[in-house]
Amino acid sequence: MSNPILLAPGPVQLHPEVQKILSQPMIHHRTPEFDQILARVLKNLKYLFQTKNHVFMHTSTGSGGMESALVNTLNPGDQVLAIVSGKFGERWAEMAEVFGAKVQRLNVEWGKSVDPQEVEKALKQNSEIRLVLCQACETSTATSHDIRTLGKIISKSNALFLVDGITATGAYDIPMDEWHIDVLIAGSQKAVMLPTGLSLIAFSEKAWKISETAKTPRYYFDLRKELKSNKNGETFVSSPVPLIRALDYVLTRIQEITLEKHFKQLRRRADFTREIAHEMNLKLFSSSPSDSVTALVLPAGLNGVQFREELEKKYAVTVMGGQDQLKGKIIRIGHMGYILDDHMVETMHRLALCLKDFGVSIDPEKIKVKSSDWLKANQV
Ligand SMILES: *Cc1c(COP(=O)(O)O)cnc(C)c1O
Repeated sequence: MSNPILLAPGPVQLHPEVQKILSQPMIHHRTPEFDQILARVLKNLKYLFQTKNHVFMHTSTGSGGMESALVNTLNPGDQVLAIVSGKFGERWAEMAEVFGAKVQRLNVEWGKSVDPQEVEKALKQNSEIRLVLCQACETSTATSHDIRTLGKIISKSNALFLVDGITATGAYDIPMDEWHIDVLIAGSQKAVMLPTGLSLIAFSEKAWKISETAKTPRYYFDLRKELKSNKNGETFVSSPVPLIRALDYVLTRIQEITLEKHFKQLRRRADFTREIAHEMNLKLFSSSPSDSVTALVLPAGLNGVQFREELEKKYAVTVMGGQDQLKGKIIRIGHMGYILDDHMVETMHRLALCLKDFGVSIDPEKIKVKSSDWLKANQV
């Protein structure tokens, strides 16, 4: 098959305009031209985060944003409640331990969302908890957590609510201020629709106060330094000019479309995937499926690792498999980035063809027709 399709839950396909911007001649980051772009980006990021507070940028992957959230709020020895419902929850809990926190894990069965009452109970039992860590969407299981309810509960406690929104911020509605989120993180190659290399992070006033005196050593991710530079119209270290120029485009475009409509487009892709998966007899892995990525359970007995290889090699479709205990058992289809209806129809068609190759009884042409009919009938 010719045209390759990348529907991973990050990195994602780039808008043609973004590709063009990324190939523009380099300019220096201390120029009037770049100053203007940076100022606009810092302003428009507030819209993306739905916050009145400052949004920071780090030249790092999403994990750098997770580290920044910790080093800017944590004192060594602090008690932390980490909601662990998959790979990324585990990573954040480990990170907090590395920085000297006493971490209490609230383990959630993979594919399920955390019960907010469990969090309330943990906070009542231990009033020393300083931070609560949670993924908005746990990408490894394609599961979204009830951030709104968690925010209500945590805002009544002494703890700060830190949310890894790397596959949520920019993909579906997660209004930072309204939902009492103290720290929110986004990542460039996921919901922000750019290449890898930027993490974005915002703090509530409550979190910022704590950050000003937090005792964990920090340098590169010291947001006090970053704020000072931003106030002078600069970034603390060299600015990744191409990424910020591309971010400027993405943010301007989202503002034009409006967040509301942008979220509807992702919801439509998620609904489509769930619907056509149902036609293909593939079940959803998550009981709280996210709009940014869908995990489908492969038929029992099918070798999922080989299946994904074949899908990639023969059909030029890149989706992700499962990790750890889910290796070979699920595939994860991303809904973020530049995705046209053709990409979605083709993905489902080729998925069906590949399933057929593996002995599954399925009619790929029927799936193709159903797919394009569904998309035509469900416009946003
Ligand atoms: C991808 C991802 C990360 C890690 O981001 P990197 O850019 O790979 O460092 C963290 N959390 C979630 C929820 C993610 O999806």
